[in-house]
Amino acid sequence: MATVLSPPVRGTQLFIPELVYFEPDALEYPKGQKILEWAKKEGLPIHMTTSHNRITNLPGEGELEKYRIAKRTLVVGIRKTLTFDTSKPSAEYAIPIATGCMAHCHYCYLQTTLGAKPYIRVYVNMDDILNQAKRYIDERAPEITRFEAACTSDPVGLEHISGSLKEVIEFMAKEPLGRLRFVTKFHHVEPLLDARHNGHTRFRFSVNADYVIKHFEPGTSSFQDRITAAGKVAKAGYPLGFIIAPIIWHDGWEEGYGELLRKLKETLPPEATSDLTFELIQHRFTKTAKKVIQRRYPRTKLEMDEEKRKYKWGRWGQGKYVYPDEKADALRAYITEQIFTHFPQANIDYFT
Ligand code: SF4
Repeated sequence: MATVLSPPVRGTQLFIPELVYFEPDALEYPKGQKILEWAKKEGLPIHMTTSHNRITNLPGEGELEKYRIAKRTLVVGIRKTLTFDTSKPSAEYAIPIATGCMAHCHYCYLQTTLGAKPYIRVYVNMDDILNQAKRYIDERAPEITRFEAACTSDPVGLEHISGSLKEVIEFMAKEPLGRLRFVTKFHHVEPLLDARHNGHTRFRFSVNADYVIKHFEPGTSSFQDRITAAGKVAKAGYPLGFIIAPIIWHDGWEEGYGELLRKLKETLPPEATSDLTFELIQHRFTKTAKKVIQRRYPRTKLEMDEEKRKYKWGRWGQGKYVYPDEKADALRAYITEQIFTHFPQANIDYFT
């Protein structure tokens, strides 16, 4: 009798870098040693570097190849800048546990903010970082202080290497006035399911219409994998959230975003919906970002036509192109309505 084989299901694999660099001092820390052992076990080429901010000799012919290789390069170092950036509107501060990401979302703002350093950095001096977080919490007492861990990276995708997210989760669990939040497009949540979070961490998944995931998010986990992971996270008792970002105006956007909310409702277990938040961010770009994106993803379908956009002045000079008011209002109204149709108890934190 012939065996009927199901088609192979190809999920996004755990990230394994192609190159690993260490700052010598990073090896003085247990986390540095642990990552070194892991890199040896994986048989990865290991190099030393004087500074995690100065990796200049990456292989690759031409800018594109160098960029691709940089995104598969891990640098293990010590975080020296311990002044945290602000992170409005989602939190008071960005907590820096990693910088850079292995995925290739065309619209990602890290392409411009990381400039010529798109490689992935993880930091071993977690005590310094957590002590600094504690100082910020104490300064703002009796107010609650929220920290965002995904401003410069997707830390869930690096957790199997660094273990840093779990440390921050367990640190915040013990801080009556400290809260953590982060967002991910990866489904590799297993190492975090048994963390003692005490309800102080909001675990968010970035989701989007099929069209956006298909065309602009290479290298991330599939929608289905993200939602399955969201169910596990909710079962582990974490407050759950979704960020719909970037919201992109495209042919059929109403069906796309309607379908997204319908699928979320169908798939999530009941415990996931009791304390659910949504954050909505429309697509935006700067002139600099547009140039970088067109160089790195020359065939992208990402619409970045200034003529079709509204210019929004920025605080530090360079402004952004967002959708004109009538489009932004239509996106906000429709997606809000769909959220409340399927999740009447949910909170929408903001639309920006
Ligand atoms: S997963 Fe997030 S951080 Fe990584 S490339 Fe995509 S948008 Fe950027």
